[in-house]
Amino acid sequence: MLRLATAAEEPRSEIGPSRKSLVVLGATGSIGESTLDVVGRTPEAFDVVALTAQTSAARLAELAIRHRARLAVIGEEAHYRELKEHLQGTGIRVAAGEEALAAAAAEPADCVMAAIVGAAGLKPTFAAARQGRRLALANKESLVSAGEVFLAEVERAGTELIPVDSEHSAVFQALANVDPCSIERITLTASGGPFRTWSKERLARATPAEAVQHPNWSMGAKISIDSATLMNKGLELIEAHHLFPVEPHQLGVIVHPQSVVHCLVAMTDGSVLAQLSCPDMRTPIALALAWPARFRTETERLDLVKLHHLSFEAPDEERFPALKLARAALERGKTAPAVLNAANEIAVQAFLDGRIGFLDIAATVESCLEAAEQRGFVAAVHSLEDVLAVDREARLMALSKIGPCR
Ligand code: NAD
Ligand code: MG
Repeated sequence: MLRLATAAEEPRSEIGPSRKSLVVLGATGSIGESTLDVVGRTPEAFDVVALTAQTSAARLAELAIRHRARLAVIGEEAHYRELKEHLQGTGIRVAAGEEALAAAAAEPADCVMAAIVGAAGLKPTFAAARQGRRLALANKESLVSAGEVFLAEVERAGTELIPVDSEHSAVFQALANVDPCSIERITLTASGGPFRTWSKERLARATPAEAVQHPNWSMGAKISIDSATLMNKGLELIEAHHLFPVEPHQLGVIVHPQSVVHCLVAMTDGSVLAQLSCPDMRTPIALALAWPARFRTETERLDLVKLHHLSFEAPDEERFPALKLARAALERGKTAPAVLNAANEIAVQAFLDGRIGFLDIAATVESCLEAAEQRGFVAAVHSLEDVLAVDREARLMALSKIGPCR
């Protein structure tokens, strides 16, 4: 079984005097900024080795200066000069390009926060997985698209993998010191997104501005759209399958609009373990950085009396077919989840660009999965390069279904 850290490892009550060195991949994103918010509240506990971003050179420079990073890397080489100018005279090293991102992930550090969005994060996240240190994993695509290959790298290097996704962080905590044989079922909670109560007719007219308005969580645009289609929960089922010792049929989803209960782990004796917290990613981020110790965070505290009630309902796979598609890809295995993810990334971007409607996102993914099956793309993979080749093909398929840019 995968080397997830356990509570049985050396106990530490606080981060303590020993500083932790940290690399943040995707520092300017929602998870990256939240990570640096946690870090900034106890700067004595952290030594920021490297920060990366794709295009936001000015923000990256600001963060690098504030957190005294030693290295700042920008993915898009066109922004190198701008980053260099912002960091002139600071002593902070500057680099650009895909290779430099992977090199930043491999900088000597106690922990890497992998928070690049999408399959674009695969190469740097793999580079981090090969270091044999702690990997706080927010980039769910590494597990979704490359599950077995990624975990083989983690195993080989003896990397300590801690999930950052809130539901997986919840399950991770619930399973500390649990015998895998006594797990009956793992249920992930879903907020239901901004369109939970919308009819199919109304969904057909949903706009990108409406779709990014998540009721509980503040997140990047891509994952916000995935939350609205429920594809995010589908990706999380696949993620959970790779992280935890259960079969696909033991994984479920329940809609819980308040986003307070993050998981339900049912045990063979009828007991159900849950993890609760206010919806704020700084809690699972702090856990991934401090585990098995705990950090004090400035997040809102849970007040169940004030909340008054928590509700739960079954997901509607008719209005939100993405969940069904993701489950089918999980059961099909091999490269089906990589095709699902790549086609979804293209479709979400096309929706954000106003080129397709909301319901076309799942329809595009479905027809790409069918085409991949017909063309024999659904096959075993043995390396990251195999995964990236399938990812590229699936993107081309999705683009050809959507049609040329207007
Ligand atoms: P975001 O869009 O807010 O930020 C993405 C970051 O990645 C930015 O720093 C950006 O510069 C960088 N980036 C974008 N494209 C890149 C590329 N091609 N190459 C290198 N870097 C690139 O995304 P986010 O919402 O912070 O999500 C990050 C990851 O965490 C995703 O995999 C997401 O599924 C996962 N996640 C996010 C949340 C959340 O609350 N935001 C919760 C759970 C999991
Ligand atoms: Mg989540």
